[in-house]
Amino acid sequence: MGILKGKRVLITGLISNRSIAAGIAAAMHAEGAELAFSYVNERFRDRILDLAKEWNSTHIFPCDVQNDEEITSMFDALGKTWPEGFDILVHSIAYAPADQLNGDYLTCISREGFRVAHEVSAYSLAALAKTALPWMKDRQGSLLTLTYLGAERAIPNYNVMGLAKASLEANVRYLAVSLGQHGMRINAISAGPVKTLAAAGIAGFKEMLNEHKEHTPLKRNVTLEEIGHTAAFLCSSRASGITGQVVHVDAGYNITSGI
Ligand code: NAD
Repeated sequence: MGILKGKRVLITGLISNRSIAAGIAAAMHAEGAELAFSYVNERFRDRILDLAKEWNSTHIFPCDVQNDEEITSMFDALGKTWPEGFDILVHSIAYAPADQLNGDYLTCISREGFRVAHEVSAYSLAALAKTALPWMKDRQGSLLTLTYLGAERAIPNYNVMGLAKASLEANVRYLAVSLGQHGMRINAISAGPVKTLAAAGIAGFKEMLNEHKEHTPLKRNVTLEEIGHTAAFLCSSRASGITGQVVHVDAGYNITSGI
């Protein structure tokens, strides 16, 4: 029997079959979960529906996390699909304007770049958690987000996204306290680099992939499947004692000196 049998999951951040959200969807579906998806913009509707069907789902909802009304409408629509509520929320969303992710940190940083990166990549987790709460409480609900080592170390070109990820990780700890009183948990996976659309926006990403591959203890990069399996575990009752944590799924890169 799958460890997520009977669980209902909302997955955000799916945009292609290479998205980390796709790896998580595949693993959670294999563990018996029923899935729903959100997508950023109507332009992607057909693509997301085709992807969702791969995991036996037709539940897809538009939601740009920069828009409070869209967040509310998404949960209203989800409430009609799953009136008894749902169990798991996966936040797999990040964005910073391209000019923030290419070159020297101090040269790149701007007030607007900082605002957008933090709003989309960090605040959105709390915004989604707040609106989801009435639908998830009192059913051992679990939330999961995705972060990166750039929150802990100065990584070339990652720049303001590193600040946003540090904020996201603090968000996980504060949310763990707020949600814990409702019997809910939240954790983050700090994933090693994976070639996705968002990653392609970071200057020198190919070099970052090679550098990780060479220096991880496992001498390779992580796969979408590995991230997906950890996500399924963290959101299952097998991880019922784990909350507020950042779990590295990076082939061990974070424990090395990186050289
Ligand atoms: P991706 O491009 O497949 O997914 C990013 C998603 O963010 C897309 O679906 C996009 O539509 C969504 N998004 C951006 N702005 C949005 C908005 N305003 N409202 C709603 N959705 C919005 O890339 P990915 O690499 O799968 O990224 C998923 C998460 O994983 C991100 O948080 C990213 O920082 C994190 N992560 C990625 C890597 C990597 O190397 N790819 C490593 C560690 C962490």
